[in-house]
Parts: sequence; C-alpha cells; structure tokens
Amino acid sequence: MKQYGLVGHPLDHSFSKQFFTDKFIRENLTNCTYKNFDIKDISQVKTVVNNTPELMGFNVTIPYKEQIIPYLHKIDSEAAEVGAVNTVKITNGKWTGYNTDIYGFKQSLKPFLEISQERALILGTGGASKAVYYVLNSLNINCLFVSRTPKKDNEISYNDVNEYVIRNHQIIVNTTPIGTFPKIDEKPEICYNEITSKHLLYDLIYNPDETQFLKEGRKKGATTINGLQMLKIQAEKSWKIWNE
Ligand code: NAP
Repeated sequence: MKQYGLVGHPLDHSFSKQFFTDKFIRENLTNCTYKNFDIKDISQVKTVVNNTPELMGFNVTIPYKEQIIPYLHKIDSEAAEVGAVNTVKITNGKWTGYNTDIYGFKQSLKPFLEISQERALILGTGGASKAVYYVLNSLNINCLFVSRTPKKDNEISYNDVNEYVIRNHQIIVNTTPIGTFPKIDEKPEICYNEITSKHLLYDLIYNPDETQFLKEGRKKGATTINGLQMLKIQAEKSWKIWNE
C-alpha cells in the first residue's frame, strides 16, 4: 500500500483528496490512497508521519506552508527562495520539501503571456503571492504588491491603485481569498474601469469558477484565468516528485 496525504487546517473544502482519489481510480492505481491529516498544530505532523509508516509523501496547505520548513531534512532551492513548501517527499525517513505552486503558476500562465505585458500587480502578500512573485520575476516582469498594510518599498495600498497604476500594470494577479465561496459577491477594491483587452487578470481562486474579480475583467475584454489549472498542475507535479 502507498499512502499520500494532505496536512493543513481546516481541510473541509480541500481539492487534493478528490483530485488524487479520482486519479487513482482513473489510472487504476489500486495500491494508492490519499488521506486528509487535519492537524491543529504543526508539531503534530511528526505523529502523523510516525503513525503512517506507508506514507510516501504529503502535500501541505494553509496555514503550514512556512511552518513545515523547520521539520525538513532537505529543501529544494526554489522552495527555499520562496520560503514556502507545499510538497514533502519521504525517503528512508528523511523529509525533502518542494514548492509545486511555482511550477503550477508558471505553466498555467505561460500560454497567455504577451511581450507587451511588462509589469504586474500582485494583490495580497501571503504565501501564494511569494510563489507568484518568484515566477513573474523570473520572467522579467516587474511586480508591485497591493496590501491592506503596505510595509515594503514594492508594496502599495488599495487606495493607491488609481487609473494610472491600472493602465501601467497589464497583469493583475489576485492572491487574496476575496471572492472565494461562499463570499462570492466580494472582490478586491481596485479601479476596474481602466481595465482593457490588453490586460490579463489571473485569480488563484478556483471556487467559484469565475470570481467577481474575473467577471469585471471579462466585461472589459481582458483575458481571464482562474486557479483551477494551476491547482491541477501543482498536484500532478507533486505526484511526479513522490514517484520519481
Ligand atoms: P495567505 O497566506 O493567507 O495570504 C493571503 C493574503 O491575502 C494575505 O497575506 C493578505 O495580504 C491578503 N488578504 C487576506 N484576507 C484579506 C481580506 N479580507 N481583504 C484583503 N486582503 C486580504 O493565503 P495564501 O496561501 O497566500 O492563499 C491565497 C489564496 O490563493 C487562497 O484563496 C488560496 O486558496 C489560493 N491558492 C490557490 C492555489 C492554486 O493552485 N490555485 C495555490 C495556492 C493558493 P495583505 O495582508 O498584505 O493585504
């Protein structure tokens, strides 16, 4: 038996368990199972692993993507640079951490990128925003973060996102949870009037399919992408890491 799983809290609405369960059925992987490990404190991850000897690896989600790092024996260089881990592989009792959100975001974004898109606005400054920044930066796209509480030089507040800022940032990525089910009527407060068909709006949220943020973009003719493709690509990448 090969066991895989997800460590986080809460996990009631997690996508991964359904994704891997469907995959195992589709690919006739009858010796594989995927389980949710809902733990209230990251220190419990040791007990989870000790009590699950057949565990080959696990995904990590909110709120533990950063807190897992001290528990690792090794960390992949990209994950270390981003400072967040969402995939752990266990080999002979040693834990190695990876960040497949980076790969998922990059691969899902690439087909939609245009040369004219040189600057991006990243809404939110949490864990996922760091992977987004890492990818955009590696593609030579200049990034500006939008935060409720801007602290650094490359962070501005929502009040600062005026027409000029929107006109000058052709890529806008929502990495905040605003608009996630059940609060589907909410959207980040930015100046949607200035969005054009030259803009690319990417929402990391995948439930609902189309958030208010993406709806506003679509109404203005922008290209819009939701988080579903990223989610699937990062999950498949985790699978590859566990099995290579
Ligand atoms: P996180 O660490 O909690 O960060 C979210 C950030 O959004 C916060 O740091 C905060 O930035 C901002 N924010 C939070 N609540 C807000 C509010 N009420 N109003 C305005 N801004 C708010 O979460 P995360 O891990 O980065 O995940 C963020 C989102 O991405 C979640 O919806 C998650 O499901 C999604 N995600 C999707 C994928 C995928 O594969 N599609 C992968 C990873 C994450 P400021 O304090 O600076 O404002």
